[in-house]
Parts: sequence; structure tokens; C-alpha cells
Amino acid sequence: MREFLTIDIDLCTGCRNCELACSVHHTSTFNPRRARIQVIRDEARNLVIPVVCLQCEHPLCMEACPTGALDYNEAGVLTVDEARCIGCGACVTACKYGGITLDPIERYAIKCDLCGGDPACVAACEYGAIQLVAADLDGLAIRDHNIARVATMLGIAQEEQQ
Ligand code: SF4
Repeated sequence: MREFLTIDIDLCTGCRNCELACSVHHTSTFNPRRARIQVIRDEARNLVIPVVCLQCEHPLCMEACPTGALDYNEAGVLTVDEARCIGCGACVTACKYGGITLDPIERYAIKCDLCGGDPACVAACEYGAIQLVAADLDGLAIRDHNIARVATMLGIAQEEQQ
């Protein structure tokens, strides 16, 4: 079954261990800018919001790519074929959620590939803010709740009814 990461911002302290773990896992370097998960700081609202690919069912990034560099791997996770990526950034522009970026050094697109089913960021988050969940009703409910929470914190939505 398809899986995705979801983040409870109430548990996130902004320590950025997830970024470092991701960077080390994928690039063998401690460089948060090369991480597939990005912790965004909103100083005005005193918020930290980790952003990562939602593993969309109909990915706009894949649709936008002119070279077919984005495709599903054998585990069914959308991944970037670095050899085919020309670094045009069309995928970055197409994603509404900030789930795909360009590697600042290699200049090809980078996105979460779920680390083969055992995400480094989940293991690195000692506060339990990041969860890997199945794309079933329970998983989607957790994600809906977490997204609603972000929207509320940003002042763009009402708190969901309990
Ligand atoms: S940056 Fe790479 S993956 Fe993204 S649209 Fe361009 S070629 Fe495709």
C-alpha cells in the first residue's frame, strides 16, 4: 500500500535533526539545504513548519517534467532519475506544497523517496513529530488533521471540529 510522511507541528521543536538525517542519508554530507525535508521558519508567527513531499496520488511535478525524469520506483514511490533531470525547475514550480526542490550543488531535482520504507527523518526525530503512515482512511485522517493544524496556525483556516 502507498505510504506518506505526515508531520504534527505541535510536536516539532524546530531542531532540524530531520534535515540533517535526510542530508546524510542521501548525500553523505551534513547540509540541510540538500535535505528532502525542509524546516521552514515563520519568525513573525513564531512557527516552524517541516515541509516534505505528500506523495500525491496525481503528482503535478511528474506531469510538469519535460524529460520524464520523475517516475515510480519498484516500491511505487515517485522518485527522480538524476540522469534525466535537466534542472529546469518545472517540477518545483508545479508542486503546490514545496515538496520538491533543486539540489543546490548538483542542480537536479530532489524529493522524498521514503528511504526505501524506513525514513531517516522519522528515526532522527526524537519528539515523534514525523510519522510514516499508510494511505488508508486512518492515515489520511491523520494527515488531514495535521494539515488543518498548520492552516490554523497560519491563520488561514478554522480549527477543525472535534
Ligand atoms: S527539474 Fe528535473 S525533474 Fe524537475 S521538471 Fe525539470 S527535468 Fe524534470
